[in-house]
Amino acid sequence: MMAEDPPIRLRFAPSPTGALHIGGARTALYNWLATRHSGGELVLRIEDTDRERSTEENVEQILDAMRWLELSWDEGPVSQASRSERHGEALKRLLDSGAAYRDSATAKEVEAWKQEHGADRGYRGEPTDEPGAAVRLRVPDEGETVVEDLIRGPVSFPNRSYDDFVIARGDDSVLYNFAVAVDDAEMEITHVVRGDDHLSNTPKQLLVLAALGHAPPRYAHLPLLHGPDGRKLSKRHGAASVQELRDAGYLPAAVRNYLALLGWGADDDATLMSTEELVERFRIEDVGRAAAIFDEKKLRWINGRYMREMSLDEYTAAVASYLGREVDERLRAACEIAQEKAQTLAEVWPLIRFIFEPPVEDEKSWRKVMKEDAGALLGAAREVLAGIDEFDARTVEEALTPLPERFEVKPGRLYQSIRVAITGSTISPGIFESVAVLGRDESLARIDAAIARL
Ligand code: GLU
Repeated sequence: MMAEDPPIRLRFAPSPTGALHIGGARTALYNWLATRHSGGELVLRIEDTDRERSTEENVEQILDAMRWLELSWDEGPVSQASRSERHGEALKRLLDSGAAYRDSATAKEVEAWKQEHGADRGYRGEPTDEPGAAVRLRVPDEGETVVEDLIRGPVSFPNRSYDDFVIARGDDSVLYNFAVAVDDAEMEITHVVRGDDHLSNTPKQLLVLAALGHAPPRYAHLPLLHGPDGRKLSKRHGAASVQELRDAGYLPAAVRNYLALLGWGADDDATLMSTEELVERFRIEDVGRAAAIFDEKKLRWINGRYMREMSLDEYTAAVASYLGREVDERLRAACEIAQEKAQTLAEVWPLIRFIFEPPVEDEKSWRKVMKEDAGALLGAAREVLAGIDEFDARTVEEALTPLPERFEVKPGRLYQSIRVAITGSTISPGIFESVAVLGRDESLARIDAAIARL
C-alpha cells in the first residue's frame, strides 16, 4: 500500500450475532488505520444473513461500539441481507454459464461418494434439472488456489481436495462464502483485512470470484488474540466486549493505542502513540504472524498514562460523561486533585465521592486510624483550619505542617486521622488538596463529627 498506488477500499464486515468483542474491535481498528493511512475508503458491511442470530439490537451495539472507539466509516452500514437480489443475479450467471450446477445429492450420498473416491478427493456431483436442488460451484480438479496473504505470504490449497461446495440452498438463498465474495467484488473492495479464523474460507471465496470473472482483492489475515495464559481470548481474561471496556473506565484513545499493538508494532517499539501517529505509521504488511496477547494490565497502564496527560478540561469532560454528571466547578476541582491518582475513569469516583456525598462508612479505616491521640490531633487541626484567612491547599498545608512536631507524632498519623474524618476512608487524593476542595465549613463540620464520635 504505497502512496502512489490507486486509492484503496476496505471493509469491516461484522456479523451482528453479539456485541463487538476485542478481536472484532482490533479488526475494525486495523481496517480503519489502513484506510486512513492510505487515504482510502472504509465500507461498513453488516453480515446479517444468519437471520436467526442477527438482531437489530446487536447491530446497534456494534455501531455504538464503533462510535465510542471513534472509528468512522465512509460507506454503509450496508446490510448484506438487503443485497440478496444481487446475490441471486450472480448465482444465476454462474448457473447459466455452467460454472455452477444443481445437485440433489444428500449428505449421505456425498459421504458414500467420498468413501469410494478417497478421503483426500473433493466431492464432484452430478448436475440435475431437479428444481429445489442445492447449487454447487464447480471446483477445478487441477492446480491450486493460492491466497496471497499480506501477512503470511502465499498459502496454497490444492483444488482437487476441495468439494464442489454448496453456494446456494434449494430455494436459491445463497451461502455465506458466496455472499461475501460477491459483495467484496461488487463493492470494489481492494483489501480484505480480517481474523485468521477466516483463512479457511478464503480459497472458497477466491474460487467464487474466479468463476464470476472478478479479480480478487488482497487479503490480510490477522493473528489470533490470546490471553496472558496463552489461551484463546475469552471472558475469563477480563473485559471481553467494547462495551465492557467502556464500562471499566477506559478511554477510547487508550484502547485504540493498545489494540493497535496487538499484532502490530512500530519499528522503534514505541508503546504510547497518539492516533495521528498510529495512522501515520501503521502498515498492514507490518502485522506479525504470531498470536498476540491481550493483557488488561498493559491496557490499564496505557490508560493511566493517557489519563494523566489529558488537559484538565478534557479530563473533567471524560469523568463527567462517564459518571453521567454535569461539568461544573466542583467537579473540575475534584478532578484536578484526582487526576494523578486514577488509572481508569472508574477509579475516579471513589477518590472524589467525599466532595459530593457524606463520608463513606468504613469501620476498618476508622478503627485503624482513630487511636487515643486522634481527639487531640483532630482538635488541633480544627483550630488551625478555623484560623486561616485564605482557605486553599497551600494555606491548609502551612497551617497543618507544624502540628505533627508539636504532638511528637509522624505526619501520617495526623493526616490519616483528618483523611478518615473527612472522607471516611484511608485512601484519598492529597490531604491538603482534599481539605481545600471540600471547603472550610464542611471540613470543620466533618472533623467535629469525628471528634464527637470518638
Ligand atoms: N462476518 C465475519 C465475522 O464477523 C467477517 C467476515 C469477513 O470479514 O470476511 O467474523
